[in-house]
Amino acid sequence: FDSLLAAKLASAEGRNALFATLPEDGRRYSYGDVEEVSGRFANVLVGLGVNPGDRVAVQVPKSIESIMLYLAVVRAGAVFLPLNTGYTPVEIEYFLGNATPRIFVCDPKKRADYEALTSSLGIGLETMGVWQNHETSAGSLPDAGLAAPTVFDTVSRSADDLAAILYTSGTTGRSKGAMLSHANLVSNAETLADVWHFTKDDVLLHALPIFHTHGLFVATNVTLSAGASLIFLSGFSAETIITNIPGATSLMGVPTFYTRLLDEPGFTADLVKHMRLFVSGSAPLLAETHVQFEQCTGHRILERYGMTETNMNTSNPYDGERRAGTVGFPLPGVDLRIVDAETGKALPQGEIGIIEVKGPNVFSGYWQMPEKTREEFREDGFFITGDVGVIDVDGYVQIVGRSKDLIISGGYNIYPKELELLLDEDEGVLESAVIGVPHPDFGEAVVAVLVPKPAAKLDEAGIMESIQSKIARFKQPKRIVVLDELPRNTMGKVQKNVLRDTYKALFS
Ligand code: ATP
Ligand code: MG
Repeated sequence: FDSLLAAKLASAEGRNALFATLPEDGRRYSYGDVEEVSGRFANVLVGLGVNPGDRVAVQVPKSIESIMLYLAVVRAGAVFLPLNTGYTPVEIEYFLGNATPRIFVCDPKKRADYEALTSSLGIGLETMGVWQNHETSAGSLPDAGLAAPTVFDTVSRSADDLAAILYTSGTTGRSKGAMLSHANLVSNAETLADVWHFTKDDVLLHALPIFHTHGLFVATNVTLSAGASLIFLSGFSAETIITNIPGATSLMGVPTFYTRLLDEPGFTADLVKHMRLFVSGSAPLLAETHVQFEQCTGHRILERYGMTETNMNTSNPYDGERRAGTVGFPLPGVDLRIVDAETGKALPQGEIGIIEVKGPNVFSGYWQMPEKTREEFREDGFFITGDVGVIDVDGYVQIVGRSKDLIISGGYNIYPKELELLLDEDEGVLESAVIGVPHPDFGEAVVAVLVPKPAAKLDEAGIMESIQSKIARFKQPKRIVVLDELPRNTMGKVQKNVLRDTYKALFS
């Protein structure tokens, strides 16, 4: 892992090079600062009894120091375990009990909430908040860091040793801890920096959360690997993106970043004409958004596909056609196949099935879930992603949905996405979620959950009528439900399991 930094730190010029600017408090971090601050934190961790292989769990507000803490944990040979800042103490109890970290670092404001829990589990409790000024403490860990030496001999680890445990987003059920090795992270960072043409001159506008693979590994590790720099923001708002984008060369975002930016009159072709790259991932980018973005800015968003367990698997090409509605080609070194869900046999191009992947990016298993791990790997080492997809004639991978969301009605397979795309075309529909619920005759029945646009009145009969000519009868919804908003998890992903549960008795 140290290799990501080593080249940069080898020369004085490299040490002085910029790693991050923090527009919100006016500070800047050089690569030399990265080494020193992560060195201080690593010394603190070792002093607190953190040994190689120990987990360090972290639930702290986004700050550049929390990136330094990530690097410090890895430099100390320990395993970084970031947790979503949206999780409540009740949810955190599961993660701490499951991961049994040596230390838990929390927001100073939440310390009291965790004292009893951590002491009963025998876990050390430290705090880290956001740096404000030299007079105000940012927490017990940064305070100790100020008194610690900057020099730290990075603990050497082998390629297969764990660098992080990252919990999945919990969209389809309980979050699982994905065990990621040094080699998993480094190989993916180097591949992405290469295929996306990142160099030391790049400036990435960073507005993603850093407890998730996208903001932590894709954005941060690619930057470190290329020796590039960040404009580091505490979170996303269209306004701060517009203010800071003139100094950036690239942006990585989830699809909502792009739809929100398109709503802003200040987001214009002129504002972003200097930009080199816009990347989207974590959730499907609607083809419509892709097209609108190009019309507005002249840039084609580059969509890629990955998951907590595998880092990134596919990407649209840097040079060549970025095809809307697809996630591009398997990355170099990644084997990807589409298989039949039942038989596990590889399917010919053009047929829909389960996506399986194998490569240096793929995790070694779920933390303390050997059975789940066995279930999700084939004998030949392929990981069963649980995503349903198809490869088109030109080799582009398209994600159709998740296998858990597949509806089987009257013996027919129905992929919700196809119907969702049709429903979204209705001018009154803001978004939709199609689910299957138990039905006495059909096994499952198709239910369309619709969210109207603000002030729009949905014409359900009209929607049903317009669908009839476009999609086979067995795929048409048996019922339409209208909601003000769809249930989402803390990553903003639609929770279809919650919808299925809510409407499970609709036909009984
Ligand atoms: P859980 O596994 O706990 O149910 P999750 O799968 O949502 O939650 P993540 O690992 O954060 O947790 O998300 C990975 C998933 O996100 C992928 O398996 C895929 O379904 C979806 N995804 C990521 N990128 C894209 C993309 N570009 N297009 C469509 N879906 C995507
Ligand atoms: Mg998943």
